[in-house]
Amino acid sequence: MLADKDRIFTNVHGFQPWNLKAAQKRGDWDKTAKLLQIGNDEIIERIKASGLRGRGGAGFPTGMKWSFMPKTPSPERPNFLVINADESEPGSCKDREIIRHDPHKLIEGALIAGFAMRARAAYIYIRGEYIFEAKVLEDAVAEAYSAGFIGKNACKSGYDFDVFVHRGAGAYICGEETAMIESLEGKKGQPRLKPPFPAGAGLYGCPTTVNNVESIAVVPTILRRGPEWFFSFGREGNKGTKLFQISGHVNTPCVVEEEMSISFRDLIEKHCGGIRGGWDNLLAVIPGGSSVPLVPAAQIMDAPMDFDGLKAVGSGLGTAAVIVMDKSTDIVRAISRLSYFYKHESCGQCTPCREGTGWMWRVMEKMRTGDAEIGDIDTLYEVTKQVEGHTICALGDAAAWPIQGLIKHFRPEMERRILDAKGSEMLEAAE
Ligand code: SF4
Repeated sequence: MLADKDRIFTNVHGFQPWNLKAAQKRGDWDKTAKLLQIGNDEIIERIKASGLRGRGGAGFPTGMKWSFMPKTPSPERPNFLVINADESEPGSCKDREIIRHDPHKLIEGALIAGFAMRARAAYIYIRGEYIFEAKVLEDAVAEAYSAGFIGKNACKSGYDFDVFVHRGAGAYICGEETAMIESLEGKKGQPRLKPPFPAGAGLYGCPTTVNNVESIAVVPTILRRGPEWFFSFGREGNKGTKLFQISGHVNTPCVVEEEMSISFRDLIEKHCGGIRGGWDNLLAVIPGGSSVPLVPAAQIMDAPMDFDGLKAVGSGLGTAAVIVMDKSTDIVRAISRLSYFYKHESCGQCTPCREGTGWMWRVMEKMRTGDAEIGDIDTLYEVTKQVEGHTICALGDAAAWPIQGLIKHFRPEMERRILDAKGSEMLEAAE
């Protein structure tokens, strides 16, 4: 279990105040100017050396992403940092805890990351429903300005850096980086075709890096304690500590910082008081937020909770939003509900997603009630394959994968419902 002394987020549960004074007692904003003196490129090298991979779902190496930004931005086209706080993935709730209980970690991280990338400013795009969190963040940014930590000559470093908080309007798709940029520009939040990638032409056509809240908030501590310290946690390719958000049928759902690669069983036993009704009662787990495929109990129990460990069982770490389902779960209904979510959140820009998400949800509803034919399961699977990988952004994949996971692991349950609905006569005929 991760020792308390190794926790980055020491106020994740909000036992202490979030304000600047309390944050400084926790070590934030401690000689930040010295951290900046490390130098732009060396900071990027140290983040690379720490093994940090993006905490927003894709897991792209953070230092490498930063290194794509121009080294000599022109005054007409400054570099920008955009921080993705549009946390809307069902099951995901870690960025909220950082923002409402430890916002100065994020703001200090924004300054250091922005400095490393030679960015002129950071825009924190916060989910519209996070009303209290946005207020805390705005107040924390004002505190940092008053203290001279950001703004002109930030931390007396000679570097000018602004931080803007921008509230979204509640659309899930604005969590996609290019849709977020469109929304920041005041347009409809619809994803852009890539290339060009944001590092080439992002916000207002300027070089931009979009990072998740957690990826930025861990940066000051990594630099203070050294990249080798962060690198010492987790296994090869999956380094550092991570905020896990465990919800559903465990005894004590929670958000907790743990070492990457901890096994699912240890995570649940140590922090969540075990599975409701015991381990034999576990049905399946969605380990990374609603867009990743579910994993049946037998396969997840001893899986390492990291990028590669969950890929190996046909799923993904995503945002580490772990949704636990025990045997009381109507698994077909649960996945159908997720299908409805993706249908509702499709921006409608591309045909496979706009039409496919609605079609998949309607068929999933038929699966739920059993009002379908056995052959419809294969048709449904084929349609998910036609949506997956054929859309502008990953929402199409996100809508397809939960259904694919269901069919892969729970086909007998889907067939049983169809046969049950047709009555015992048909059951006999089918046998
Ligand atoms: Fe919009 Fe869906 Fe296409 Fe993404 S995949 S751009 S959400 S229609």
